Amino acid sequence: MPEEKTEKVPLKNNILDRDAAQLASLIASWGMPAFHARQIFTWIYQRGVMDFGAMSDLPAGLRQRLNKEFCAGAVRLEETRMSADGTEKFLLRLADGGMIETVSIPASGRVTGCISSQVGCKFACRFCVSGTFGFRRNLSAGEMIEEALYLRHRSAAKSLTHAVFMGSGEPLDNYDNVLRAVRMLNAKDGLNIGARRITISTNGLIPQIRRLAGEGLQIELSVSLHAADDRTRSLLMPVNKRYPLKDLVPACREYRQKTGRQVTFEYVLIRGINSSLADARKLGKILRGFDCKVNLIPLNAQTDPGLVPPERSETAAFRQEVAKSGVPVTIRQQRGEDIEAACGQLRSSYERRVHAGRHHHERH
Ligand code: SF4
Repeated sequence: MPEEKTEKVPLKNNILDRDAAQLASLIASWGMPAFHARQIFTWIYQRGVMDFGAMSDLPAGLRQRLNKEFCAGAVRLEETRMSADGTEKFLLRLADGGMIETVSIPASGRVTGCISSQVGCKFACRFCVSGTFGFRRNLSAGEMIEEALYLRHRSAAKSLTHAVFMGSGEPLDNYDNVLRAVRMLNAKDGLNIGARRITISTNGLIPQIRRLAGEGLQIELSVSLHAADDRTRSLLMPVNKRYPLKDLVPACREYRQKTGRQVTFEYVLIRGINSSLADARKLGKILRGFDCKVNLIPLNAQTDPGLVPPERSETAAFRQEVAKSGVPVTIRQQRGEDIEAACGQLRSSYERRVHAGRHHHERH
């Protein structure tokens, strides 16, 4: 397994790392009325204003002090892509140069933000582009909040009704920061997104799933399964060697019992690897009697030329076979396929292009 050591997050004084109570007590400690915290929150979270100088109802002294001690976010837009289906993807550069992707996905009256939780990822799933960069660091809660604010105020949709931690990184591997970000997304004076509209998507880290079940949050849990036997799952997802299916599925059942929330299992279909009718029967068998949902996703990302999606008919047959077990199962097409919206793809193509450009430059 990869080592647990992470680099320090550089934005120590990002105001987005503070909740309203923390900011109020800080302002009080500066000898100013604590209610200014509410005003600052209104500027940032309701109006999307990140410049302290523009917060016109704050006393000048407070604006100066804020400018001196804090920044309000620090991402820079590197590139943006708009898909024909409305999916909009942003490649953002962080203060230390690290790059993340954040995606706005509008659909039937809702706008879902796909939030990254780490720069790179340690887990090296075979079908995932993010895994190929290796791990660089955890994002702070404030950096994740800035992704959400970016989507709400600067995307074409200018809205954010739902959030899924499904961008690059494994959210439960950055547990404390992600949970703080979830609480800020959920807070009335923060982004005010209902807990049931927030989803954490995990590759199956069992201790953290158990811990999450005890948080008293009504958030959704989505678990990447991608195979119904340990041999295949370990091949696709090395994390399975540490947390095999025989332990993972019961941990998910416990999560369901403890929180009352339905668990969703994601299953990327890859031809010849996990897409046969026998695989479908195995999947139905391990989930039988479990009040859960299954999302089947025909493979999209092109990390490994040996991995391809099944034919449409094979996907449909797989779905039917799983449905026989009584588990609700749907086929989900990936959104934004024309703009490389699968996790890590835009960053990957950007780095290829920049790299190619550099070579070009060097030659001349
Ligand atoms: S699928 Fe998730 S856990 Fe696996 S390598 Fe990609 S980002 Fe990491």
